[in-house]
Amino acid sequence: MLLVPEETRKRLLAERALPRASEPEVEQRLKDAGLRPTRQRVAIGRLLFGSAHRHVTADDLLQEANFAGEMLSLATIYNTLGHFSEAGLIRRISVDDERAHFDTDTGNHHHFYIEAEGLVLDVAPGGIAVERLPTPPEGYEITRVDVVVRLTQVQPEPPAGQAMPDSGPRSLR
Ligand SMILES: [Zn+2]
Repeated sequence: MLLVPEETRKRLLAERALPRASEPEVEQRLKDAGLRPTRQRVAIGRLLFGSAHRHVTADDLLQEANFAGEMLSLATIYNTLGHFSEAGLIRRISVDDERAHFDTDTGNHHHFYIEAEGLVLDVAPGGIAVERLPTPPEGYEITRVDVVVRLTQVQPEPPAGQAMPDSGPRSLR
């Protein structure tokens, strides 16, 4: 299901206050992935792995780190995301040439991308069927197919004070 932009904005705001993963949990996760659990990596891991799967950019995490009282630079966050990605803890999603988006769900799935908002959403499992793939060049095999479905908003927001028919509070009988 696709959320409308107003709801996604609220969700993003709510995510800043999401619970952080515990320090020992993140340290273990880093060690299991072969990474040394430095203070900065643990701080970023706590923000990333505190809740359900999510999509983030380095800028998102910088804001969340500030909100959580962690003093981290954008460069540190960006480098750490690169290390996490190389270690297989997160996956870089190629949707935007200018900003790198990362997914904490490293499993096979496809994405919606709302370009105007820089927002990445998961396509529900089974939402895309790739029925015919090209034959790869000799000596190569296909490892993964990433589909990005790009979206643009078509319905304007209703004017202030004029609620959509289905969005108002319902009267109780
Ligand atoms: Zn995803």
